[in-house]
Amino acid sequence: MKTITLTQAALNRGSLLLVNARHPLPECVAPERLTPFLDSGILLERRTALVLENLFKALGCASSLLPVSGYRTLTEQKQIYASSLAENGADFTGKYVALPDCSEHQTGLAIDLSLNQQPVDFIRPFFPRDGICEQFREKMISYGFVERYPEDREGITGIAAEPWHFRYVGTPHAAIMKLHNLCLEEYIDYLSLFPSVGKHLEISILNKSFEIFYQKTDPQDGSVTLTLPSSLPFQVSGTNTGGCIVTLWK
Ligand SMILES: [Zn+2]
Repeated sequence: MKTITLTQAALNRGSLLLVNARHPLPECVAPERLTPFLDSGILLERRTALVLENLFKALGCASSLLPVSGYRTLTEQKQIYASSLAENGADFTGKYVALPDCSEHQTGLAIDLSLNQQPVDFIRPFFPRDGICEQFREKMISYGFVERYPEDREGITGIAAEPWHFRYVGTPHAAIMKLHNLCLEEYIDYLSLFPSVGKHLEISILNKSFEIFYQKTDPQDGSVTLTLPSSLPFQVSGTNTGGCIVTLWK
């Protein structure tokens, strides 16, 4: 076994970070953790960009799908919110545009995609449920992406259905979310049923076996100390809910 300690700063990131109206972004993303996605000029968190690039290659969809919006700074989110308020009013904006610091676009883990046809709607891109768009939705799961705002979870996510907004949560998490039909808020609640001391989630999915558990962070300094098997690859992601999720590849 080995023991590792992660600071709050290290847990302010990770593919399972929850950012919504009740859980604002804990910390701005450092510029060196961002990279341009293909030649779109859009920035994404490095791993998200790399995985999405691989997914685009596998589908051969670089000319048919158009990245519309990826990473946003706080200033950009403020501008989008203000201009939508002025142009579309409070009702529409409340449904489709997250408040500044409550947008997961500020994590670099989210991307809005449009079918590449004119005109492009930048607030509500067209991403239908057929053709290459549906092929993307099917394939993305094994690459670790989910449709973040399903139409039947508006009461939980606080955001109206956004069939164009995709979020990198990593593998195997996207596949487990799909299997149990959970949105990210529900998935983090579900994983908290498997605490570090207690029964862990053991699951075989995507032809591999995983052990997953939830560990609360220290209420004083937000850090966490984990004792893990030395021999297994692992990943730790903060959740922005006072805990972190540990994934072991078995
Ligand atoms: Zn979006």
